[in-house]
Amino acid sequence: AERTLVLVKPDGVARGLTGEVLRRVEAKGYRIVALEMRTADDALLAEHYAEHQGKPFFAPLVEFMRSGPVVAAVVEGGRVIEGFRSLAGTTEPTGAAPGTIRGDLGRDWGTSVVQNLVHGSDSPESAAREIGLWFPAL
Ligand code: ATP
Repeated sequence: AERTLVLVKPDGVARGLTGEVLRRVEAKGYRIVALEMRTADDALLAEHYAEHQGKPFFAPLVEFMRSGPVVAAVVEGGRVIEGFRSLAGTTEPTGAAPGTIRGDLGRDWGTSVVQNLVHGSDSPESAAREIGLWFPAL
């Protein structure tokens, strides 16, 4: 079955929403096949967000992402890459549909980074690359 990398970002962990995010993932019928809490370092984040290097929000994004622990999960299921992005909702919480993680739980704080609770891989190529980065043993 397809796999994706899900991150509960530092804002989600700090707000105590890890269980709620994983509950929604499992309730949808996806399977958690790996799970770890860790604080990411610059090297990992630079690779994870390689496509955003050079963008104005890159430095604040990395700073936010290393500001506290994240929960990383490998999630498996049919069309899970698209399915998790659907569960997550659009990037900006204010406009995200009710019923989605960001729509129900996210807020726009007016900071330079969109603190939107979760990350999910956006393609099979990204998923393979990101799972290799966060879970090299898999
Ligand atoms: P989604 O596109 O659904 O947000 P994603 O997490 O893959 O998924 P990306 O476009 O890859 O989103 O951007 C990565 C992260 O960088 C976003 O989730 C958000 O936290 C932050 N970000 C993206 N665009 C901006 C922006 N214009 N200003 C500030 N932060 C941003």
